[in-house]
Amino acid sequence: MFSGYKYKIGMAWLISVFVLPLPFIYTFGQGLPALYASQAPAFMFGVIAYVWMLLAIYIGTKPKWIDRLIGLPMAYMIHGILSLVAIILAFLHKEGSPSAGLIKLTGDYAFYLFVALAIYSLVFMAGWLTSRISILEVIKKNLEKLFKHELSVWLHRLNVIATILVFIHVQLIDYVRANLSFMILFYAASMFVTASYAWAKLKDDSKGYKGKLISNQEIAPNIRELTIRLPKKRSLRLAPGDYVFISFPNIKGMGEPHPFSIANAVGSDKLVKLVIRGDGDFTRGLRNVSAPTDIAVDGGFGMYQSVIKDNKAKQLLIIGGGIGIVPLLSVVDGNENIETRFFYTVTKGTPFIYQDRIAQWQNRQNFQAYCQEGRFQNEQILSILPKDMSNFVVLLGGPANMGRHWKKILEKAGVPVSHIYYEEFSW
Ligand SMILES: Cc1cc2nc3c(=O)[nH]c(=O)nc-3n(C[C@H](O)[C@H](O)[C@H](O)COP(=O)(O)OP(=O)(O)OC[C@H]3O[C@@H](n4cnc5c(N)ncnc54)[C@H](O)[C@@H]3O)c2cc1C
Repeated sequence: MFSGYKYKIGMAWLISVFVLPLPFIYTFGQGLPALYASQAPAFMFGVIAYVWMLLAIYIGTKPKWIDRLIGLPMAYMIHGILSLVAIILAFLHKEGSPSAGLIKLTGDYAFYLFVALAIYSLVFMAGWLTSRISILEVIKKNLEKLFKHELSVWLHRLNVIATILVFIHVQLIDYVRANLSFMILFYAASMFVTASYAWAKLKDDSKGYKGKLISNQEIAPNIRELTIRLPKKRSLRLAPGDYVFISFPNIKGMGEPHPFSIANAVGSDKLVKLVIRGDGDFTRGLRNVSAPTDIAVDGGFGMYQSVIKDNKAKQLLIIGGGIGIVPLLSVVDGNENIETRFFYTVTKGTPFIYQDRIAQWQNRQNFQAYCQEGRFQNEQILSILPKDMSNFVVLLGGPANMGRHWKKILEKAGVPVSHIYYEEFSW
């Protein structure tokens, strides 16, 4: 049966791939002079490519409603795949509809810019791809010392310039300009995306609400715990398992927002705890940030609590590895009425975090933790699966190979796909 998360993803793809381009194709076809009928397919490819580029830019503004529906990692996957296919369509458009002068110039420049940025982004920005193709992951790891994530973000923004070139390209074609119904759609969509982009970048709290970092301490080697006090009035809506983007407006080199999961269920005291492993410039730079200081916090994003709610969970199976355990800690914290089996693994020689909290939860009648160095055997976990899975939910957090392994094993064991949720730490 179509239900829950899988259904929403299916709908998101359907709307993105077919529904959104449809009115553009229809109105364009209606107004196309008969003289150009033989080139119609090539023109249509161009139209679809433009609609998908606009959609990709809109997704890049991190709309919260899209995140709550399908999650930002999935939204970014749609963003990436549609952009790549759009470039192929743009190529077919270019080859199938010869042009000259400024029309050709703007089209060509846009195309080459898109291609160059796509190649770059495939390595540096598409975590959903690099985590599946090991050679890309190796290239990324090696080149990242030179091409920092912040630089990649800035280069990626040049896609907006390429899209503006396409916008101009379309204006220059007289018979397209004369097609009123198409032009109304074209302007409306372009203006909507421009306004959304400008709003996301320029609004007062574009990097989040101003909070206060009140403590920053090392709780294990290379792992820091940040405690943030959020403003009492205009505050964020944070559900257990969510993540936020944080940045430090007054600290040089720490101004670009980075995503981190919350480690506690946020109560009326508005205190948020983050647990962060030092993996790169920003995360290692936290060593030098002393509290108290201003911090911008944007969120909440994430799907863990929606999956619990959608499936009316009465039993939870949690499997977390390494730093991927963080969002699952807040899930346990915020869902104390749900019977929970909690499997937490770390690589040999690396520390478990929050052992005291986990020990406290063990006093609950409905909570059982299993912590071990090295991976769990399939049987260890399969043996605790309930017979009736109707209100049973599995939440996964940790490295990509771990998450994908358990998804596969649990689906095979009969856990419904929409009852399993894995949120990766990359997109
Ligand atoms: C949903 C989500 C939740 C996360 N929760 C946690 C957490 O609770 N604890 C924790 O330690 N880590 C968490 N991370 C990972 C954390 O965001 C990255 O380790 C951090 O951003 C790396 O930044 P850096 O500058 O230190 O390292 P860099 O060397 O710049 O980057 C290391 C890797 O992190 C990724 N990355 C860097 N900057 C960003 C960014 N702005 N947005 C997305 N990815 C980025 C890049 O793919 C890069 O390969 C989470 C990531 C995501 C996507």
